[in-house]
Amino acid sequence: MSTGITPDVCTSEPHSAPHIEASPARHTQLGPIEIRRLLPLRERRMVGPWCFLDRYGPLTFDAGHPMDVPPHPHIGLQTVTWLLDGEVLHRDSLGSEVMLRPGGLNLMTSGRGIAHSEDTPAQNSGRLNGVQLWVALRNESRHGDPMFESHPELPEVDLQGGRMKVIIGGVSPATTFSPIIGAELQVESKVEVPLRKDFEHALLLLDGNATIDGEAAVPDVLYYLGTGRDQLSIKGSTRILLLGGAPFGETILMWWNFVARTHEEIVAAGERWMGGGFGQVRGAAAPPTPLPSMKGPRPPAAS
Ligand code: MN
Repeated sequence: MSTGITPDVCTSEPHSAPHIEASPARHTQLGPIEIRRLLPLRERRMVGPWCFLDRYGPLTFDAGHPMDVPPHPHIGLQTVTWLLDGEVLHRDSLGSEVMLRPGGLNLMTSGRGIAHSEDTPAQNSGRLNGVQLWVALRNESRHGDPMFESHPELPEVDLQGGRMKVIIGGVSPATTFSPIIGAELQVESKVEVPLRKDFEHALLLLDGNATIDGEAAVPDVLYYLGTGRDQLSIKGSTRILLLGGAPFGETILMWWNFVARTHEEIVAAGERWMGGGFGQVRGAAAPPTPLPSMKGPRPPAAS
């Protein structure tokens, strides 16, 4: 059946080490915020279950609310919100209302469906710097109950020459549905990072500069490392986002804020959103985002 929609087809295509693939970010706009999108890219669709990565900031503002993302729905994914600076107020259709600050994790599991908003709060620092990520849920987990969790503090692992804050996977208390790692590395001069050989991994420099296995690296480029590494040598003075996981092995369809397997599911989720079937996000700063046209070019994700 032709539905008219044009979802982004994202296939898991793991490479094995020694493979470093450098993919510059695609620049886009989310309301007033300039975004660097690092997943999905044409040449790299997924890293383990990670299927979406937006980098924003650092930015400062005197007035206005740069982060106001009105209520919008999700299916088939977890959203991972991670701040380096500033604050974001999360609300969702389960009734959650949580202020996220740097060093904490907001993790929302959509399961079969959830709606949320993310706003710059009225009382704010005037700064914003962070990343927004999505984790695809495997077929057997994607129809479960929606849930939201907030982890204001996360475990830190000391490494020779640096530290690793474990956001998700490993020693993190965050709920996971497939083998995954997400961590923020703080590198002071030179660090050896232990990796799981069965995972594919990628790095994103959040600031500074570094050499990765002897190759120069800069911010706003996704460095895909493939599978088969049990450690990685990083030199420099930098903060780095480390992403990884077991190769996902399932092809997903992404359209707007939905992660699905078929066109029909996407159409059904759109109809459910328009019919109020995702529930209400109480207290949100702006009215819900209407469903974009299902014909013509693919609409941007609301993040
Ligand atoms: Mn969202």
